[in-house]
Amino acid sequence: MTLAAALPNAATRALCAYDPGHDLPALRRRFGAVLAELGSNENPLGPSPRAVAAIETALPEIFRYPDPKGGALKTALARHLEVGAGQIALGNGSHELLMLIAQCFADAHTSVVFSEFGFAVFPIATAAAGARPIRVPALTPDHAAMPLGHDLDAMAAAICSDTRIAYLANPNNPTGTWFDDAALAALLARVPPTTLVVVDEAYHEFVDDAALTSALPLLQKHPNLVVTRTFSKAHALAGLRVGYAVGSRENISIIERLRESFNVNSLALAAAEAALGDPEHVARSKAFNLAERTWLAAQLRSRGLRVLPSQTNFVLVDFERDAASIEHALFERGVIVRPMGGYRLPEFLRISVGSRAENERLLEALP
Ligand SMILES: *Cc1c(COP(=O)(O)O)cnc(C)c1O
Repeated sequence: MTLAAALPNAATRALCAYDPGHDLPALRRRFGAVLAELGSNENPLGPSPRAVAAIETALPEIFRYPDPKGGALKTALARHLEVGAGQIALGNGSHELLMLIAQCFADAHTSVVFSEFGFAVFPIATAAAGARPIRVPALTPDHAAMPLGHDLDAMAAAICSDTRIAYLANPNNPTGTWFDDAALAALLARVPPTTLVVVDEAYHEFVDDAALTSALPLLQKHPNLVVTRTFSKAHALAGLRVGYAVGSRENISIIERLRESFNVNSLALAAAEAALGDPEHVARSKAFNLAERTWLAAQLRSRGLRVLPSQTNFVLVDFERDAASIEHALFERGVIVRPMGGYRLPEFLRISVGSRAENERLLEALP
């Protein structure tokens, strides 16, 4: 008898491969320009023209390996963030960094804490490291201020002596919820120095709540803090895969030990550096998103739907009944949104803020 599959390890046995939901290339062929892609939180304004120009300039050099240190991008980031270049690690998207962090700091004898409706990569990174997941119940769906948000008190209480990592996303995907600087400072004051607190700030650039700036200033006081960000969302470079982690020199040097030398390609390095040099484009993207999200949420609420608060470029919508048929009806009309069954939120759909035309198509297609 031949075995079709070799034996995966225990953690991998419990996982399923990433399900993108739909065959997007096929859908693009079918629907063409009228396809509304509101499933992946991409920036409908597209990237800065400076990023596109930088790619064109870098193109003739793609026969060479990329700079394994990403020196120019790190220097630009260090200046932008007011940290040392040695405090930054670059990743093939921040997804890769979230995975690497688990591999570097957790193992089968340790545990990792994250929120029930925290970012989907957190449990995968935990499983890949073979660590024990501690999934902390989220705030309730009817919580007045932050339905389904991270319960920071419960998360701090869940951290035990073998907890090596606590993953937080602020704002969080898929809920859109957030916590302010004071709440994070209070959490960090309760976390032992042996637990690394990873704050995923993928949506940082979209935040307009004055009480939430960033976790970065807390790095001075808390060397057990690592902050991750990405060029995929506000900078609109999702297809190139660039993210970064900021932490103490010591923690970053540990991440560097497992990082694949050429993990960020040369076009991505050039484009990210150029994007960082165009703050006006980010400001435009933020202003567009705020205006459009406000409009879209109001339109959805006027149809009697419950829209959760959001500081991101998407909204989580509660249909208060199984949303699978709604998702399917939208799909048949060329409107892609993200179903939430995988998060055990089958009555919700996550809808990215698109262009006005895309958002109008969504509203028209809603059954
Ligand atoms: C989109 C997203 C990321 C970014 O992933 P990349 O790998 O950088 O594209 C990270 N965290 C959260 C919470 C996200 O929603």
